[in-house]
Amino acid sequence: KVKRTRKPDWLRVKLPVGKEYADVRKLVDQHKLHTICESGNCPNMGECWGAGTATFMILGNICTRGCSFCAVATGRPTEYDEDEPRRVADAIQKMKVKHAVITSVNRDELKDRGAEIWYQTVVQTKQISPSTTIETLIPDVRNNWDALYRMIEGGQEVVSHNMETVKELCRKVKPQGKYERSLEELRRISEAGKRTKTGVMLGLGETEDQVFRIMDDLAEAGVHILTLGQYLQPTKMHIEVAEFIHPDRFEFYKEEGLKRGITYVESGPLVRSSYHAERHVNVPLK
Ligand code: SF4
Ligand code: SF4
Repeated sequence: KVKRTRKPDWLRVKLPVGKEYADVRKLVDQHKLHTICESGNCPNMGECWGAGTATFMILGNICTRGCSFCAVATGRPTEYDEDEPRRVADAIQKMKVKHAVITSVNRDELKDRGAEIWYQTVVQTKQISPSTTIETLIPDVRNNWDALYRMIEGGQEVVSHNMETVKELCRKVKPQGKYERSLEELRRISEAGKRTKTGVMLGLGETEDQVFRIMDDLAEAGVHILTLGQYLQPTKMHIEVAEFIHPDRFEFYKEEGLKRGITYVESGPLVRSSYHAERHVNVPLK
């Protein structure tokens, strides 16, 4: 275990530079799109954007929720743009994205939770870029299962919904979210025959037993892919890092996850739910 002092060496990464990065940046700006990479100050922007991939965030950049780890602005969202699916599809085509990750803020105030925009974005992307594979990282639909099924029926290869943390820390980390409800959402995605993925952040103060328990719950719910990464505090206003987990520990958790029946585990300090996402398209369905 490494106590929290300052960032250990394995978390120091290169700043985004290079022509590919600049090209992606330009297209994202031109199409008036949002990306979670920027909102979340993700440390992998150099690598991901440099490889010509980015995670698009739809349904605006203001979230109805205020999770304590998240850098996305909280408030009353104003954006609802029926033209957004077309712009996202267009950007993905122009960027020649091979694998697109699409995510959104939570829109609890919308009756359909934004499901129609979700559906249209996937369908329109597939229409003009049929060989592009898609992962949709969807929000908590708060038991609106009709909205869930609409969000996932557009033909995407992977559907993810992030648990974010162990059960015991949910209240502190994502006060408007619920452990059991998110687990149920994952179960339904898996039962609908979709490649199902989730992400959990480590270093928030969770114990080993709590990590084992969430792995067991995920395996039982039929989740195929799990990502485990180090939580990093985006600003001083956000919840503090409790611990920097050593890379060897991430390796150990990966082995444990596989042993417990999760088909594919991506685990390491810099892993984010969309990191190496293109590899997850081929994970076999159980
Ligand atoms: Fe963006 Fe995800 Fe890559 Fe981070 S890991 S830069 S959020 S695609
Ligand atoms: Fe951030 Fe998602 Fe929480 Fe909204 S629901 S604050 S976007 S993590």
